[in-house]
Amino acid sequence: MLLEVRDLHVEFHTRDGIAKAVDGAGYAVDAGETLAVLGESGSGKSVTAQAVMGILDTPPARITGGEVLFQGRDLLKLKEDERRRVRGAEMAMIFQDALSSLNPVLSVGDQLAEMFTVHRGTSRKDARAKAVELMDRVRIPAARERVGQYPHQFSGGMRQRIMIAMALALEPALIIADEPTTALDVTVQAQVMELLSELRREYGMGLVLITHDLGVVADVADRIAVMYAGRIVESAPVHDIYKAPAHPYTRGLLDSVPRLDLKGRELYAIKGLPPNLTRVPPGCAFHPRCPLARDVCRTDEPPLYEVSPARGSACHFWRECLNG
Ligand code: SF4
Ligand code: MG
Repeated sequence: MLLEVRDLHVEFHTRDGIAKAVDGAGYAVDAGETLAVLGESGSGKSVTAQAVMGILDTPPARITGGEVLFQGRDLLKLKEDERRRVRGAEMAMIFQDALSSLNPVLSVGDQLAEMFTVHRGTSRKDARAKAVELMDRVRIPAARERVGQYPHQFSGGMRQRIMIAMALALEPALIIADEPTTALDVTVQAQVMELLSELRREYGMGLVLITHDLGVVADVADRIAVMYAGRIVESAPVHDIYKAPAHPYTRGLLDSVPRLDLKGRELYAIKGLPPNLTRVPPGCAFHPRCPLARDVCRTDEPPLYEVSPARGSACHFWRECLNG
């Protein structure tokens, strides 16, 4: 296994008390595989990724338990300088907002070239050539002419391609992409997602794709892990989820995806809001919003039941959900 997150706990100290942002979450992704981590904002999906990358702000965040096994090593046990080495060369992250992740006063060519001069000791001239090559790889038209331009001179979609190029530069084993297309319009979204998944295949990397939008993962993900209130509530191969979700929250997410074949139908929205993480409801955290909830849900926290060897659901009534 390339990456395995086990029983991770992350707390934030807030004025309201301790928020359990990640409360025992775990997932795994293999080389060459794409795992989509799905959930509303505040579900813990970004915080989990930041813990994996070692870029959580500390404090107020504190990792209070768990393991992050990367190629068999627990990253949470590494010293900061070893950690930095892994982060630079073996895993990379792509963020939603390229404009604030890229340096506004350096040309994109210089930023790409820096990856090679700093991490690989490549000469400036060779690094510049590699920058152009990377811009070609991510299909930026006229790369040779545009290599000296600054981030603000590119469109949102093109900037996101530059972020992908930065992430690919050192050919990491793992890329984590946090809402990489959320800020883009729908057509550009699809193009960027397609590019990312194509390059993932070409380079044989593992990809963790974080998104709140189930609509974007169907064609690119192998597996889906659904998060709610800091936990994994369903984990399954993507086609299983589309065939029939085994958790009411997954069903709600699925039903709220716009579908071309059901045009004109009113879009379903899951009622209510995710809980305040300093006061997560007892029992199943989803119960105040769940159409299937009954008494036991308000008192007994569901474990991740085994639905099949490749699939888990944290719902007492997963059978009913699966057949419903
Ligand atoms: Fe709904 Fe109960 Fe299942 Fe939670 S355990 S998702 S409240 S049916
Ligand atoms: Mg987020």
